[in-house]
Parts: sequence; structure tokens; C-alpha cells
Amino acid sequence: MALLQEPILICGGGLGGLTAALALARRGRRSRVLEGAPQFGAIGYGIQFGPNVFHVLDRLGVTDAVMAKADCPPAVLMRDAFTGNVVVTVPTGASFRARFKHPYIIIHRIDLHHALLDACKVVPEIELVSDTMMTSFEDHGDGVEVTTADGRSFKGAALIAADGVRSRVRAKLVGDGDPQPIGYAAYRTIVPISELSADVHRKEVVLWGGPGFHIVHYPLRHDTLFNIVAVFRTPTHGQKGDAASYRAELQHTYRDAHPAMRDLIAMMDFGWRGQVCDRGPVRHWHKGRIVLLGDAAHPPLQSLAQGACMAIEDGLCLAELVHATDGDFAAAFPRFEAARLLRTARVQLESRAIWEFYHAEGIARDVRNATTAAWDEAHVFECLAWLYDGAPLPTGQGG
Ligand SMILES: Cc1cc2nc3c(=O)[nH]c(=O)nc-3n(C[C@H](O)[C@H](O)[C@H](O)COP(=O)(O)OP(=O)(O)OC[C@H]3O[C@@H](n4cnc5c(N)ncnc54)[C@H](O)[C@@H]3O)c2cc1C
Repeated sequence: MALLQEPILICGGGLGGLTAALALARRGRRSRVLEGAPQFGAIGYGIQFGPNVFHVLDRLGVTDAVMAKADCPPAVLMRDAFTGNVVVTVPTGASFRARFKHPYIIIHRIDLHHALLDACKVVPEIELVSDTMMTSFEDHGDGVEVTTADGRSFKGAALIAADGVRSRVRAKLVGDGDPQPIGYAAYRTIVPISELSADVHRKEVVLWGGPGFHIVHYPLRHDTLFNIVAVFRTPTHGQKGDAASYRAELQHTYRDAHPAMRDLIAMMDFGWRGQVCDRGPVRHWHKGRIVLLGDAAHPPLQSLAQGACMAIEDGLCLAELVHATDGDFAAAFPRFEAARLLRTARVQLESRAIWEFYHAEGIARDVRNATTAAWDEAHVFECLAWLYDGAPLPTGQGG
């Protein structure tokens, strides 16, 4: 272990990378986080977290900072895009909290990012290096070396690649190409809640599901902002256009939807358009002293709202195993993969199934609506238990 004195390099300062850095620091282990963007931060939209994320936030000591900025919706609802009828209710109030021991939260992504970032900044074990786009990396056997777009190089004891769904490290390590477009595009918009004219639930997380399209909305920052995401199937999913063509396409796609959905569509600002892409699970995400984490390893569709939760769970799990093995990466990385594979693969696969459930059409939609009519709270909680009860997370003990 010639380079043991070198810090662990973490490529990518998103939610997964920062969690890994903080969890390593809590065990006295040094890391250097290389972030390609000019500043550590995040794109400014809402994010939902199931109670499973608190198993990690509690251990890292950041729960209070997160909760100061978060809101707890009274329910997560799925509504039919044509009738507006509620198809599924997940009560997320007192009974949910009693069952899962932790809340369901909605939070501005920037606020969550800063809660982690602030915690990282005050510990000496973490060095945060922004504007540092990794372009290549080498595993020298006794350490790793990363080269950046502007020609700098960084040495480390190991490389944790938390560089997201289009991970360069994955491209070399796994070599399975780009994530595949699934034919859908998405828009995200935040408006002041005072400007919200649509007649919709303002406290709940609501998903309106229709054939080939859906909308998700919920409040942010203590009911001052309103987050709207519109997702729809379109042959233009990979193309760029202008605001007028985007608006015309949305109006056409949602023309038969419930009037409240059309009012929401009228509020979209087209500041962010994304192509929805997917990857299937793979068995191996590490080689030698290099390991993938979060979306780089197992990106799911956003339908379960669990991609960031998985990245955060990964961060703690990986750090604890590095500590448990006393920095023996050849032992820690396979254990990390084994600990995380089935849970993260299930999230990927169930996210695909739920994607179909949201977008059911014809008889499938009728079957969905008739079946869910019989679901009560106990059944819904049981369905979610595998996810929201959290995963066993190692404690850094033992070798
Ligand atoms: C519309 C939408 C809604 C979502 N909603 C939810 C939700 O409600 N709940 C949830 O849990 N998840 C949600 N997700 C998923 C979530 O956003 C991701 O799963 C999560 O961000 C993954 O975290 P990560 O740290 O692995 O990667 P990222 O967040 O993508 O972070 C990667 C970081 O690496 C940096 N980087 C990339 N390449 C390099 C390089 N070469 N060198 C240096 N740095 C680099 C990037 O700048 C970035 O900061 C949603 C996703 C989408 C698209």
C-alpha cells in the first residue's frame, strides 16, 4: 500500500460523492473530491426522499440541517390524468412516520446539497476541488492517478467514481456504452407558489399518470415555491428546439388531459429539457483500486424517486467497508458490490415497472385503476417496506 498516505480520490461532487467523502471523514479517512463544474452545487429543482435516506443522514449527523430546509407532505398521490381520480394514496403523515420511523421529505436540491457541502467544508479530512474535469485515469496497482481537462494530475490511494449517469470511468471500466434513450423528454420548472393558478393539491406530492405522459408536482421551501415536472413520450426526445415549438408540442401531447394538468403545462418555462435515458443492472462496478458509485453504477429511471437515495446509501456503505478493511480496497470493493447489488438492481427494475404503471393505457389502465381501488394503507406500506425500511448498512467494524 505504497500510496496509502495519499487521499482517496472521489470524482464527482454530487450527492453520492459528497456522502462518500463525509462518511470517510467520519472515520478519519482523507479524500479529495474532484468536481468538474466551476462550483460545487446542484441544479435547482426539487427532490423527494423516502425514509430510507435518514438511515444515512442520521449516521452522518446532518439530519437537523436537512430537516431545517425540508418539508413533509401529508401524502403522495397518484391521480388519473383524464378523470383526476386518485388511483393510489401513500399517506406520509403520522401513520407513515410511525411505521417507517422516519419522514418522507421534499426539499430543494440545492438545500440538500449545501447541507452535505457545509458538513464537508468543516472537516479537515476533505479537500474540495472544483473546476476539475477528469478526462482520464490510471490504476498503477499501488495507487491511482487522475488527469484533468486542463492538464493537472492528482494521485490517490483509490478512485471512487461518483461522476453520474454519463460516467467516463464507467465507460472504461464497464464499457457498455451510453445510457439508452427510452423515447421520453422531461421539463422541470419552479414557480412562486403565489403564481400558481392551477386547481391542484398544494401540500401533497402528486403524480398524474396518463398514456405516454405524466406530471409530478409538490411544494418547496416551506410552501413558497412549487416544483413541476412534465414527462412525455415524443419522437423529438433527442432534439433541441425553441420555446414556441416546445410549448406547441406540450399542448398537443396534453390536449385531452385533465384541465388542471393543462393549467400546469401552461406554467412550464422550458429552462431545462432532458432526454430520459435508462440502463439495466450490471453485476460488477469495480476493478482494482477503482469503484463506481451512485448513478455511475446503477442509474434508475426517476419513477421511484430513489436514484439519489441509492447514491447516498452507497456513499455510507462504501466508506464503512473501506474503514472495516482498513483501506484494503481489494477486499472492500467486492464487499461493497455484494452489499449493494440486489437492492440497487431492484430499484432499477421496479422503476421500469412503475414507469409502465404510470403510463398504462387502454385495458391496462382500467385494470390498474380497478386493482388499486382495493389497496388500503396497510397494503401500500407493505409494498414499500423493502425500500423504505432501508438496507443493512455496515458499521465499519471488522475486517
Ligand atoms: C427528473 C428527475 C427527477 C429525479 N428525482 C429524484 C428524487 O425525487 N429522488 C431521488 O432520490 N432521485 C431522483 N432523481 C435521481 C437523482 O437525480 C440521481 O440519481 C442522483 O443525482 C445521482 O447522484 P450521483 O451523485 O450518483 O450523480 P450526480 O448527481 O449526477 O453527480 C455527478 C457529479 O459528477 C460531476 N462530474 C461528472 N463527470 C465528471 C468528470 N469527468 N470529472 C469531474 N466531475 C464530474 C458532475 O458535475 C456532478 O456534480 C431524479 C432524476 C431526474 C432526472
